[in-house]
Parts: sequence; C-alpha cells; structure tokens
Amino acid sequence: MKYIFVTGGVVSSLGKGLAAASLGTLLERRGLKVILQKFDPYLNVDPGTMSPFQHGEVYVLDDGAETDLDLGHYERFTTGALSKLNNLTSGQVYESVIRKERRGDYLGATVQVIPHVTDEIKNRIHKVANEMDGDIIITEIGGTTGDIEGLPFLEAMRQFNDEVGSENVLFIHATLVPFIRAAGELKTKPTQQSVAKLREIGIQPQIILCRAEQEVDDDLRSKISMFCNLPKTHVMQFLDLEHTIYEAPLELRKEGFDQVVCDALGLDLPEPDLTEWTSFVERVIHPSKEVRIAVVGKYIELQDAYKSIYEALTHAGADSDCRINIVRLDSQDILDDGAAAHLSDLHGILIPGGFGERGVEGKVAAAQYARENKIPYFGLCLGMQIATIEFARNVCGLKKANSTEFDPDSPHPVICLLEEQKDVDEKGASMRLGTWETMLTEGSRSRELYGSDQVNERHRHRYEFNQNYREQLEAAGLKVAGTSPDGTLTEIVEIPEHPFFIASQFHPEFRSRPNHPHPLFAGFVKAALECKNKS
Ligand code: GLN
Repeated sequence: MKYIFVTGGVVSSLGKGLAAASLGTLLERRGLKVILQKFDPYLNVDPGTMSPFQHGEVYVLDDGAETDLDLGHYERFTTGALSKLNNLTSGQVYESVIRKERRGDYLGATVQVIPHVTDEIKNRIHKVANEMDGDIIITEIGGTTGDIEGLPFLEAMRQFNDEVGSENVLFIHATLVPFIRAAGELKTKPTQQSVAKLREIGIQPQIILCRAEQEVDDDLRSKISMFCNLPKTHVMQFLDLEHTIYEAPLELRKEGFDQVVCDALGLDLPEPDLTEWTSFVERVIHPSKEVRIAVVGKYIELQDAYKSIYEALTHAGADSDCRINIVRLDSQDILDDGAAAHLSDLHGILIPGGFGERGVEGKVAAAQYARENKIPYFGLCLGMQIATIEFARNVCGLKKANSTEFDPDSPHPVICLLEEQKDVDEKGASMRLGTWETMLTEGSRSRELYGSDQVNERHRHRYEFNQNYREQLEAAGLKVAGTSPDGTLTEIVEIPEHPFFIASQFHPEFRSRPNHPHPLFAGFVKAALECKNKS
C-alpha cells in the first residue's frame, strides 16, 4: 500500500480537493485501485449539522455518511465507492478517544494529543488500508498549514511516514503563489513560509503545487525549489482552469504530476489512458447547443451549496451536446417580483433540496409557474415536497396545504414527518440517510428514463409525502412514479400530461458521473432542449 497526503498552504479554497481527485483520475487510469479520503480538522462529528453558508453542500454517501463536498469530487473523478471511513473529522477522533478513556482503555495513563489523538488518526488510515480494496490511499487534509486545529493531523502524518517507511509515503503541498499587481509579479514568499511551517513539524513536501493566476516560470520554480528543498521538477503549477474542473487532470498531467508521483513512490506503471476523459472534456467545452436552466434556491450566491447539482447538469449537458447556462435564482426574488419576471425565458426549472421555512413560498411559486406554463420541472428532495404542496394547493384546492416542517398546524399536511422521525430528538446523523431502494411504477416517465423497474438512490430528509393524500393527488393528476419496496413511502412524483415534471424525494445528483449522466438529469436536459426548440 502506498500513501499520499495532500496539504494546503497560505489560504483555503485552493482546489486541493480537486488536485487530489485529479491525481486519483490519473493513477486510476494507470491501473491502480485508488482510495481517496478527507481529514477535516473541525470539531463537528460530520458536516451534516452545518449550514451550506459554512461549508457548502453536504455530500451523502451510499452508506448514509454525511460528508465534505470534496468526497463528491472524489466520487466523480474516480470509480471507487467511498464509505463513512473516508471522511474523518477531529470531532470523530476526540469522540472516540474520550469514549475509550471513559471505558478505561487507557487506564493509568494521562490521555494526550500525542500519542492518543495521533494514534487514533493513524489507526483510521490503517483501518481504511485493511478494510477497503485499494493500492493507494490519497488523503487530503482540510484547512491550512499553520492552523492550530490541524496540528494533530500533521503530527500523525509525520509519525505515519516514519512507521510505514518514507518510500511508501508522499507529501504534496498545494499553495498559493499570488500575483502582486503593483509589482507586476508572482510572489513565492507565502509558499516558502508555509513550507517552513510544515518542515517545523518534520514534514518535507516532495511536490509543491503552485496555485497561480499566471504562468509560474522557470526562475520562480528554481526559487521555490531552493527555498523549499525539493527538485525543480517537483515544483508544478496549477493554474485557474479555463472552462471546467474536468480539465484539472489533463492540466496536471501536462506538468508531469502523475509521473513524478509514480517515480517518487517507485511505481512502474503504464501511461494513463485518458481518451474517454478527454472526449468528455471536449464535449463540455465545445457543445453545439445550449439551454437556460434555473436553479431556484436560497443559497444561490454560494458557489458550493449546490455543487453536485451543477456537476450533474454538466454531465447531462455533455451527454446532449449542450451547454447548460445555469441561472441561479433566489427564491425570495421570485416571491418579490413574481415568477414570470424571472422564469419566462427559461427552458427548465430545478428546485434543489433545502431545510427551513425561508424561501419556501418563492419555490412554490416557481413550481406553479413551471407546471402551468409547461416548462420542464425537476424537483430534488425539498423540490419534490414543494411540487406536492403546490399541486395540492392549486390543483386540488387544498389552499393551506403545506409541510409540517413549515407549518406545523397546516390543515392539509401533504408533507409530514416520517414515522421513524417522530421520536428523534438529536439533530446529528438522524435523518433518513443513504441508499434506499425505489420501485418504479409501470408506465411512468421515470421508469422509462431509468430503463429499469428498480433503482437505488441516496436520501437525506426527515419529512415525506403524506400517504393520506395520495389518492386525492393522484386522482387530480400528480402520479406516484416510485415508492419504497413496501409501497409506504413515495419516492417520485410526476405529472404525465406535462412535457417533463419529475420530482424525487432522493438526491439523484449524488450518483451522476462524467460520461455517466444520471438518467433523470439526462431526461430533464433533453426536455429543456425540446422546450427551447418549441419556443
Ligand atoms: N427539509 C426537507 C426534509 O427534511 C427536505 C430535505 C432536503 O431537501 N434534503 O425532509
């Protein structure tokens, strides 16, 4: 087993998750079984309780783990399935250490960061190595070198390197090389200082990835090489990507990234076959068609809040040779200005997941507009609940229909708490999470798109479609297109008379991959294209 650790310096948001994932792509295409994972130094046990404002999207795995959005990159850039073992936080580490202390596992000892916390971290790496099928583990350490909370992780990496032998371990440091406009040049000092921080702890990075807005020339590379004590060929640039994140593996390959990694780890592997990847990137960059699709949410100003949805749209767009111009709409604006003001020239309307009352009425207005004006509608999780509420109110005449999440006293709670949720009083990891089976209704559009009568999709919700209203809603034209195997939970609703009106209780966006668009997303984009052609 080989181990790569990716750290970040100077600032966050450097794209080290993307760099780690891209290295995964390159090594996988050289024939290795790659496991990617993330260590996050914050004290939350998982990001499930954090607002998207704090941490972007919460990415859900098959086993129901609520994880950092970088795991989404890992799953989209490699084929390996991830599990809850692949996102370790300080919260989990301390929780486990304290549980062991109370049980008496350390009886007699003073429990300390070194060795107890660092052992716990190293044990997780060994556990992943033992339990998961892989040749190489790429671990990204969240945060920035120099953060107090990251120190135990870095110290654990240092010890790990000594224990498994440095020939099996590689440290990659991603850092910022800023352009100072007044001086007209890129500066290496922050990189030098951040590497100095790592070396203070006893870690010498063997590769430095320089995030820069401009070419990192030979002189700069020489300088970094000298100050940071590594060969010049191991100093690489990672520039802003011109069109799409899927260019990252190709750009890094131009720098010789994967070759240097292989050489440093003594891996003699064939060149990677990137034909399929390159043709996907080509289709993303140069499509012949385009559509405008609205994503109506309340975190639209955040780049990362609906990450997997944007990526799934990109995958589906590439599949239809179509650029997706995403129009990010704040649901409050729809309420303020009226739906037509924002939605009339769009070819598709997508309502993503969400929690809490804010923004809900604007989303209901958007769903109504899509239904009445025959604009393709795609609802995901909350987007399905919204579609149901809107239909109940405006088609079935249940004027005050709502979800009990937003109106606990609604006379028509068409969306209500899942039975199993009624006694739940802790917020963490307590939703209906992870992969559940859905049986698709014969004759439904969803079944046709999936080409199957049964699918497995990832969930993250507390509320559900209220079965007491099923008959009434179905009679009025909102068809149940998918249910749990026992038929008690509604997983998909559709309006058959509409050009495309599909809404799922699950999150299909988590299962979309480059070159393997999700069938529902692919169908939605095709419907948007048809909508455009008709208008
Ligand atoms: N808030 C809703 C629920 O808990 C929807 C959740 C979501 O969109 N992920 O059921």
